[in-house]
Amino acid sequence: MPNKGAPLGPLHILLVEDSPEDAELLCDQMLEAGLQAGFERVDNEAAMRAALAAKVPDIVLSDLSMPGFSGYQALRILRELHPQLPFIFVSGTMGEDTAVQALREGANDYIIKHQPARLPSAVARAVREARGEHERQRVADELMRAQRLESLALLAAGLSHDLRNILQPLLIVPDLIRDRSDDPKVTRLADVVAESARRGHEMVESMLSFVRGSRRPSERIVLPRLFQAVGLLLKGSLPRNVALQLEAGDERLVVEANYTELQQVLINLALNAIQAMPEGGQLRLLAERADGERLRIRVQDDGIGMDRATQERLFSPFFTTKDSGTGLGLVSCRRIVESLGGEIVVRSQPGQGSCFDLLLPLQAAAADGAADEVAMLPAGQGQRILVVDDEATRLSLLGDALSSQGYRPSVALDGAAALRLVQESGLPDAVLVDGGIPLLSAGQLLAEMQGLGYAGPAIVLEADDGPAFADGPAPAGLQVHVLPKPLEMQRVLRAVADALAAA
Ligand code: ADP
Ligand code: MG
Repeated sequence: MPNKGAPLGPLHILLVEDSPEDAELLCDQMLEAGLQAGFERVDNEAAMRAALAAKVPDIVLSDLSMPGFSGYQALRILRELHPQLPFIFVSGTMGEDTAVQALREGANDYIIKHQPARLPSAVARAVREARGEHERQRVADELMRAQRLESLALLAAGLSHDLRNILQPLLIVPDLIRDRSDDPKVTRLADVVAESARRGHEMVESMLSFVRGSRRPSERIVLPRLFQAVGLLLKGSLPRNVALQLEAGDERLVVEANYTELQQVLINLALNAIQAMPEGGQLRLLAERADGERLRIRVQDDGIGMDRATQERLFSPFFTTKDSGTGLGLVSCRRIVESLGGEIVVRSQPGQGSCFDLLLPLQAAAADGAADEVAMLPAGQGQRILVVDDEATRLSLLGDALSSQGYRPSVALDGAAALRLVQESGLPDAVLVDGGIPLLSAGQLLAEMQGLGYAGPAIVLEADDGPAFADGPAPAGLQVHVLPKPLEMQRVLRAVADALAAA
């Protein structure tokens, strides 16, 4: 196989190449290396568009120059139609300048023809990366959908409260009427009203308890920690042309709130900001001390901005200017912020971007030696962390989280690949390994590494279907931490930091 990891299945490869002989040579190279693939060759724009419309390939390989057509044109066409599909330049000659330009224009890789060794593995890697990215996007979308549902729940909660107040007189008045009148017709009407009011009240109560069920208690939230989580969540939805700037202040910025809710407020505001910058721009999240005992969290964009009419209706339920908007994001933001005793201040002008300020009561910072929960995670110092997990999405999220925390992760999908990594690039500072990895078990991998001189900490994720060490006890002499599932990123990062500190 040209690459390690799960099989790719049969690939459909589109070749942009004017020479049938060269194309055949490329196909042979890939088939001989064990790639399963079908090929289609085109050498002009019309044919390329037709081919893309007929069947979306897994990857496009393109020559640099052809009579009447160029690789750069092919790349632009592909990016316009399928921005995420991998594209590799394959050229007879390629100077360093051309190569750099190719990558800058958005190609995933470039290969010199007649260097057959690299092509199959480059193709396999590009396809795998694109699929991983696709999977990450799917997870991010899922998350957004969940948060939308949560907005709805919040709206229902608000409605229920209001309805309960409205229904209150309807529950009391019929009794008063019965006291004051002996007219059987009037008392019957009073009974009808009372019965309807009772049913309405019951519905409101059940709606409220349903919504309350999803609510969690408040806790002390340290702003840098919250920003870190929000940054991680946004990563998946951030278009390439939007730069994210996080200024989280220091760990003395503490607010008392429900973590999920406050996070949702920031995500909602940030998504609005991203949607307001279709041409790209800068999204800025900032936390700082405001006047008095208040904390300011600012979400700012340099997008399309809002006119006065829009600003006036901003917080009305279902007000949206977007085709697929819900008009519920800001409603739920305001409800959450007001439930914390805070307020939202908006400044915006058409064409000048928008700035949403959340002003929240500031809590006294935790005293020294306060609970671990509140303490900020120490940033990594570039320590090398070997991450082994056969679940590709989790692996990629773990890798991202660790590198944004300042570590240098290297990732492997199975025990054997992990061992190869260690043999090739030396021992890591810590190992994070899933209990259910294939080829070599977690225990075997750690024992093998110990044989190579590894004495650092091991963090083992509980297997999906059993104990962390399926085949016997953990290797003696290694410091092993077991983390239960479901995983929480904060707990993982905390475990890594603690393990490194103890080592
Ligand atoms: P939705 O995003 O579903 O439309 P929201 O309640 O989040 O619902 O936002 C309501 C409306 O407020 C948006 O449709 C948009 O017109 C406007 N809006 C919110 N945030 C911004 C922003 N950062 N820039 C420009 N307009 C915004
Ligand atoms: Mg919104």
